[in-house]
Amino acid sequence: MKFRLMGITDLSTIDWPGKLAAIVFFQGCNLLCPWCQNVDGIDPRGGRDAEVEDAVQHINGLKPIIDSIVLTGGEPLLQPEACLEILKSSKELGLNCAIETNATDPQALERLLPYLDLVAIDVKAPPSDPGLYEKVTGSTGMPGLAQKVKEGLKFAVDSKTEVEARTTVVPTLNDDEKIIVQVAGDIKGINCLRLQQFRNQRTLDPSFQKLPMPSRGRLLELARAAKQGGIKKVKIFTVEGGLETV
Ligand code: SF4
Repeated sequence: MKFRLMGITDLSTIDWPGKLAAIVFFQGCNLLCPWCQNVDGIDPRGGRDAEVEDAVQHINGLKPIIDSIVLTGGEPLLQPEACLEILKSSKELGLNCAIETNATDPQALERLLPYLDLVAIDVKAPPSDPGLYEKVTGSTGMPGLAQKVKEGLKFAVDSKTEVEARTTVVPTLNDDEKIIVQVAGDIKGINCLRLQQFRNQRTLDPSFQKLPMPSRGRLLELARAAKQGGIKKVKIFTVEGGLETV
């Protein structure tokens, strides 16, 4: 089976803390977040054609040094059959499996859940605020976008797979205590929220490169607000401090 691949990182110790993971980057995304840093991963015509069988063989060859795989992108759920085949084969190889997704195809996510040990879902704004969700994700005109994310979150929570919600804090869009508390309220049932620092080096909308990166101190303030909003475990990820549990 062919799929569109951006690339494979053979070994990462960062993407899944505590694990030695190969990272499979699927090419193409259905959102246009103006602050996106993975600019080359968005166009579905980018990357290259690859065979699922070759990717699995490559992952098998990495087994002496890895114990896990992470599917990411772009957006992996846009190619659900390839995800499914890679996850099934990886499970047969005895690997832990994770996905990083924007959850805009809840049905596809539901099919993958039995093969996943960790689901990291982008919650880019409160799903209870569809207007803001559209703004933060580039107003792609996708019908029911925030509702789809809500459904994806529900499927993930109900599956008993470990779930982490991830919010990138972007000035002018969601860098606000009230918004983060609203996110916390919208992800009931998920015990872990990771607040990630927006980076201004390379962004889809170049005007975002003029915005300052929120500081580690600012992310700590927002993390405390999220905890007061009811999230048990809040992590922050910054260039200054790496991944920290607050
Ligand atoms: S940040 Fe947004 S546009 Fe960029 S890859 Fe993620 S979901 Fe797609």
